Amino acid sequence: MTAESKFNDYKPAMTDLQATVEANRCLYCSDAPCIQACPTEINIPEFIRKIATKNIQGSAKTIFDANILGGSCARVCPVEVLCVGACVYNHLKSPPIQIGQLQRYATDTAVQKGWQYFKAGADTGKKVALIGAGPASLAAAHQLRRDGHACTIFESKSVLGGLNATGIAPYKMKSEIAEQEVDWILSIGGIDVKTGVEIGKDISIEELQAEYDAIFLGFGLGLDSRLQIQGENINGVFGAVDWIEQMKANRLDSKAFSKITDAVVIGGGNTALDAVRELKGLGIANVSLVYRRTEAHMSGYAHEWSSAKKEGVRGEFSLLPTAFEATESDLGTVLSGVKCTEVDAQLKPTGLEKSLKAQVALLAVGQGKQEQLIEQLGLEHQKGVLKVNKQGQCSKQGFFAGGDCANGGKEVVNASAEGKKAATAIHQWLSQGASLKAHNSLQS
Ligand code: SF4
Repeated sequence: MTAESKFNDYKPAMTDLQATVEANRCLYCSDAPCIQACPTEINIPEFIRKIATKNIQGSAKTIFDANILGGSCARVCPVEVLCVGACVYNHLKSPPIQIGQLQRYATDTAVQKGWQYFKAGADTGKKVALIGAGPASLAAAHQLRRDGHACTIFESKSVLGGLNATGIAPYKMKSEIAEQEVDWILSIGGIDVKTGVEIGKDISIEELQAEYDAIFLGFGLGLDSRLQIQGENINGVFGAVDWIEQMKANRLDSKAFSKITDAVVIGGGNTALDAVRELKGLGIANVSLVYRRTEAHMSGYAHEWSSAKKEGVRGEFSLLPTAFEATESDLGTVLSGVKCTEVDAQLKPTGLEKSLKAQVALLAVGQGKQEQLIEQLGLEHQKGVLKVNKQGQCSKQGFFAGGDCANGGKEVVNASAEGKKAATAIHQWLSQGASLKAHNSLQS
């Protein structure tokens, strides 16, 4: 049994009847606010109307035309603050349309039936390198193939899909769904994938510039940030993103994990909320979220925190961790607790100390940026986040970017929208006869 298999879908798939009934509730608003709330601007009333008229094939096409990652977005989008949150029914004291669930119904049906909608465009003879195999690069590569450009994706890990495959809470989407989606996207053909390749190490930036006409950067963020406090290297302290990846890949030490009764997650954002719910779902009795500010200041989604509390997660607020404590066990030196100090609104210690029992502690205090790589590329950035214009063009000709490395860390749907937009800009740039190769030869 894998760790992921212990989780059920928190929003189970709709039946045909449920989808038809829900689709028929939609008012098909002419100035639909739900479309404006979607970063990929899916024509929501159109795809819902097609479900209502039993045109599921057409419905999925409407979704994929706007967002090729419509299947995973249907599961992982925070719809409560996007399309569903914008639905007019919220003002009519009626439940909003379950747009994400309907989107999942249409896209799942398309994948199950093997419906294909897209073909690669006529070969342009142009080649684009895409760095990173996450949602932004996948969306960009798919659009570039529709425009006829050859694509090569370079990924440092062995798995494709980026955080969609390694970082999504399993009650929202299991990694096998992300893998299926990657296969479906790559089935357009002509997207070469090179895994285990690190830019600047296994292939130089000069080699890339000499071989490709344009480069898309979708390499995401870096490693989990650390607190730089005592005991951070004790066995049992993990970065939350790293731990979630290990859990999803079923690489947790099950012997050690079965002995855990108390866990602490440090942070107040969405990664922290995913992590507490995952620890609880894996059967840990006492799970606490420790945040240095108040509950009202948490940056994570309120609906996720509300669900976590219902599942029994405890919130410990205005607490700043100061050290990790260790004990000796048959597994060696292991974590036993997290020492914290209470702080006031200005984050000044009040003098009150508190120690929380924990055999596992996850740091969900942000991820580092890929500043070193960005500087090697000679691109402008702000604190490690690439500077791009509205079309996704970087500070140097021929370089484009999207997703977390250019937006600082947003949703899958933002990465998909930005990847597609940058692909459109790349296509326009290449169509004018521009090329990184020509640019480099002019410079040399
Ligand atoms: Fe349908 Fe709600 Fe969108 Fe109106 S706002 S089109 S009712 S989903």
